[in-house]
Amino acid sequence: AKLRVGLLFGGRSGEHEVSIKSARAIQGALSADENASKYDVLPFYIQKDGLWQAPATAQQVLDSGKALQNLAPSPNLWQFPAEANQVDVWFPILHGPNGEDGTIQGLLTLMQVPYVGSGVLGSAAGMDKIAMKDVFAQAGLAQVKYVVVTRAQVYSNPCVFPKLCDDIEANLGYPCFVKPANLGSSVGIAKVRNRTELEAALDNAASYDRRIIVEQGVIAREVECAVLGNDNPKASVLGEITFSSDFYDYETKYTEGLAELLIPAPLPSSVVSQIQEMAIQAFAAVDAAGLSRVDFFYVESTGEILINEINTLPGFTATSMYPQMWAHTGVPFTNLVDQLIQFALERHSSTK
Ligand code: ADP
Ligand code: MG
Ligand code: MG
Repeated sequence: AKLRVGLLFGGRSGEHEVSIKSARAIQGALSADENASKYDVLPFYIQKDGLWQAPATAQQVLDSGKALQNLAPSPNLWQFPAEANQVDVWFPILHGPNGEDGTIQGLLTLMQVPYVGSGVLGSAAGMDKIAMKDVFAQAGLAQVKYVVVTRAQVYSNPCVFPKLCDDIEANLGYPCFVKPANLGSSVGIAKVRNRTELEAALDNAASYDRRIIVEQGVIAREVECAVLGNDNPKASVLGEITFSSDFYDYETKYTEGLAELLIPAPLPSSVVSQIQEMAIQAFAAVDAAGLSRVDFFYVESTGEILINEINTLPGFTATSMYPQMWAHTGVPFTNLVDQLIQFALERHSSTK
């Protein structure tokens, strides 16, 4: 019999629209000739307010490519559509908080049904930039210097703010990057060049998250590596992102034509193999599973390779880096999606 794949998309995060695009691409791949005899797709849509929609409505969202708007607040956020009981394997393709951070993964674990991607620990450790960097440091992976700040410190009374800013200036200098710990797509991130900008950026980041990270700014090329597998993960060829904006901010990421993707990245083979090795180490260090995109800074002037972050549910549209890097490595989109489901089944049977 065919496996029923619960394609779970949308979600309560700023990356809701990207998730719809990713889910469309994955449904297309599961319905393609290579996969159609193995899988049936049951889509489930999580609205921006958190309500789950059954396959009939979810399919309309996939077909239109548009989020449901003007939602009435629902009293039944935790009522799952009855069709959820028919799912043999879940494919969550939710980006950011409430989807990529271990929350959904905990729910699916409790359901005792296999699911694509990392479990609770890998998802949570990969999402929180402070936890992630602490894990990377422990694994001996080189990265930029960083300082941890809490919302409580930013809003403290008596005010510790001036001392906090003094410490950041002394430890990191300018420019530095201020980031809410638990977001993605560059939301809430600021590059700051002086005290006034630093204070404003900390205040802004505190409005997004209780936890904030401030990093030393580096001048570097941005290189990414796709990882696929469970206990023996493989690394793809590398991709490089180039752009003319100040940094890879939200607008540059999502406006057609502002960023260019180069695959494979034009780098010396020794740099490529070091990055691939670091990507696999990072994947293991946070206990990721199935898939991750690991992002790096390559400081060309010194040859330094610094890990920037891991994304455990990276963008998965037809033009996204993750599937494109695999396509250039010889794994076409349809096969990639098939492999991810098989890795989900393998992981489920080995962790039971
Ligand atoms: P997100 O998870 O939202 O993608 P990142 O930490 O990857 O957040 O930061 C987004 C972008 O900001 C990076 O791709 C890069 O262009 C820029 N950036 C972030 N941190 C630094 C840094 N320490 N030095 C230089 N550029 C940075
Ligand atoms: Mg990220
Ligand atoms: Mg990033």
